[in-house]
Amino acid sequence: MISVVVPIYNEETNISALLERLRVSLDKTGEKYEVIYVNDGSKDRSMELIRELSAKHNFVKYINFSRNFGHQIAVSAGLDKCKGEQIVIIDADGQDPPELIPALFNKMKEGFEIVYAKRRSRNGETLLKKATAKWFYKFLSRITSIEIPLDTGDFRILHRKVAEQVKRMPEKQKFLRGQMAWVGFRQTFLEYDRDERMSGQTGYTFRKMLRLAMDGITSFSNLPLRIATISGFVCSFFGLFLIAYTLYSRFILKDYEPGWSSLMITIVFIGGIQLIGIGIIGEYISRIYDNIRNRPLYIIDETNIKDETEELPSK
Ligand code: UDP
Ligand code: MG
Repeated sequence: MISVVVPIYNEETNISALLERLRVSLDKTGEKYEVIYVNDGSKDRSMELIRELSAKHNFVKYINFSRNFGHQIAVSAGLDKCKGEQIVIIDADGQDPPELIPALFNKMKEGFEIVYAKRRSRNGETLLKKATAKWFYKFLSRITSIEIPLDTGDFRILHRKVAEQVKRMPEKQKFLRGQMAWVGFRQTFLEYDRDERMSGQTGYTFRKMLRLAMDGITSFSNLPLRIATISGFVCSFFGLFLIAYTLYSRFILKDYEPGWSSLMITIVFIGGIQLIGIGIIGEYISRIYDNIRNRPLYIIDETNIKDETEELPSK
């Protein structure tokens, strides 16, 4: 069976159209399938629509979060609950074309555990978004040892094996494309042209994107921490020379200025470096704190997916 995980945040205008496109494409694979909508605290009628669709079609499953937990967590919940041997992750807004699914599926049958969809072009996205995304992934691949493919989102098909391994990663900051690169297995890609969203507005605010970027960096690299340390060393190294020179001019040359400006510059500079260092350390500590608090990753208000473990007779 193929499971399709669709995170939903205010997508009332796209849900039905996407489901039609999904059905046509999934029928082509000749496999059984389920479509799992994860409603991530939508403020519009998305959930009512999903409920109606699930009453009509029994392959439509849903998970309704108690509030907005974020795209990556919504996808994680889908991975946790889906039952398929193959799993497709796809956006609800039509930017990831469902028509590519049969091709992804066939490619997988050639013996790959992950086939991700690589964007040949991106339509309807601002220059700023494209530029920041490009820059970010280049930067990320430079500072991490894992190979996160460029120009890809979460649109992909993966084998159950991969999902099981990703589930074993307990961290609360989810950066799935990184985690999936990290677990390994045989991976390949197919290219496609990314469309505009069918309708509605992006749910990814600048804040959410920044958060995703920070989670990606901190989950896979300690370089920022190391930079803080290194810049500390560099500053104290120059500081030593400065101290030696100050003493030399004070006692040997006996030629010294009141020195207010150099003092100020030094203090400001060192102070800045210290604050940056503390800030970076803080970012990591806040993430450590998130993890040791061990809160649940998400809260499900309602779902029509039966948990198999609950059905087992108690011994
Ligand atoms: N999404 C979500 N939670 C959020 C924001 C977005 O589940 O907090 C979903 C959204 O419904 C869509 C997918 O994540 O299915 C991608 O979001 P969007 O299209 O808004 O992002 P963009 O394509 O602009 O990066
Ligand atoms: Mg989109």
